[in-house]
Amino acid sequence: MEATVATSQASANASVRPNFAAEDGKAAVLIAMRDLWKTYDMGAEKVHALHGVTFDVHRGEYVAITGPSGSGKSTLMNLIGCLDTPSQGQYWLNGKNVSEMDDDELARIRNQEVGFVFQTFNLLARATALHNVELPLIYGGIPGAKRHEMAKQALGAVDLTDRMMHRPNELSGGQRQRVAIARALVNHPSILLADEPTGALDTATSYDIMNLFEKLHEGGNTIIVVTHEHDIAARAHRIISIRDGLIEKDEKIR
Ligand code: ADP
Ligand code: MG
Repeated sequence: MEATVATSQASANASVRPNFAAEDGKAAVLIAMRDLWKTYDMGAEKVHALHGVTFDVHRGEYVAITGPSGSGKSTLMNLIGCLDTPSQGQYWLNGKNVSEMDDDELARIRNQEVGFVFQTFNLLARATALHNVELPLIYGGIPGAKRHEMAKQALGAVDLTDRMMHRPNELSGGQRQRVAIARALVNHPSILLADEPTGALDTATSYDIMNLFEKLHEGGNTIIVVTHEHDIAARAHRIISIRDGLIEKDEKIR
């Protein structure tokens, strides 16, 4: 549903640095969102895709962001992944204020801090699994031998060592998504960010991928999965439900 409000917004951009320190056994805050707005200017009207979203994610958490179509999930995912900047409000990632960064800094953060997984895998069709996984390392300027080693290790972590030299069209949907997950993790990012990662997979394969996410979470990765599917969201340890650009519910389920 579209939330179209024509009133002017109260300015809430005062920069108050959240407390990121780990306190009595609690993991440090990795993501701090403070009164986040995203407004799309559609000429005569403004679409407030997000209007005042506030939450923290601690290092090592496994969070699902869920909600109906049009609720603002992809908008929020684009902000978390530094693919877009908020219209108002603060976003702190790993102690740094992302909302004040320029395009170069955002590009660097995207490459170093965030591993993306998409519904449609987004692999290079003509490249082998190994080469696909090496790509972020090429952009990151890592030399050949080291790159190779890191990519092999990432493919091993998703149980694809025996398919390294296959191209995407020689792999099943689930295997393709595992290549994409290896690519997302090869840089050891702070967050693994997945938008509808099982949307193009059959049920059994979806569960395989969710089992892999569980294993990656147990291995210490911070995971955020955006999904409109309840049974996929239920595999996370916390569910943030959004509706009409606002957090409706934020619950720990394990
Ligand atoms: P979801 O991923 O939950 O389906 P989105 O974040 O894609 O929701 O969209 C939230 C709202 O923002 C919707 O009303 C949508 O129409 C609007 N919206 C999303 N992207 C744009 C855009 N680039 N320009 C204008 N409106 C947009
Ligand atoms: Mg979406």
